[in-house]
Amino acid sequence: MGKRFYCDFCDRSFADTGVNRKNHFKGVQHQRMRKQHYDSFRDAATILNEESMKIPCKRFLQDPASCDYGDSCKFSHLTPERRHQLEQQVLKDKLDKDKSKQTEMTEPSLEEWLEKRRQKRLKIEPNNDSPIMNYELPPFLVNVPNLPPSLLPPTIEELKNKPTCEWG
Ligand SMILES: [Zn+2]
Ligand SMILES: [Zn+2]
Repeated sequence: MGKRFYCDFCDRSFADTGVNRKNHFKGVQHQRMRKQHYDSFRDAATILNEESMKIPCKRFLQDPASCDYGDSCKFSHLTPERRHQLEQQVLKDKLDKDKSKQTEMTEPSLEEWLEKRRQKRLKIEPNNDSPIMNYELPPFLVNVPNLPPSLLPPTIEELKNKPTCEWG
């Protein structure tokens, strides 16, 4: 068996001769597969743009089989369905792009995030340096003897050693 040429676009192989290759590359089938392959790498907007610059192929639109030029036709072979498909794809691409842009904008940098977290913690956690309130008996209680303990103001010592309790 001689050497075989494998065409990636068409996913088929044939005896590797110059004539075979030339014929294969010229073939409508190969050109279509090749175009499809490259189209899949171009975005829908580009294709749509290119196709709408072309004049629609009258022959193709009447009967797709009647235009012998296939995808190498200089007129547009874009069917309404394909156009619709492309337009949907353009919208989707745009949404995806906007979405990734948004997350880029709202995503804080690590430094910003740490700073925000630090400030939040400052707010929540009691500051140990804050002055301890000095509780005093209201004037009308000062001269009342034998006040019950619940009415006595806490001493500084008591405040300092107060058990931390979490309200939950
Ligand atoms: Zn091929
Ligand atoms: Zn045509």
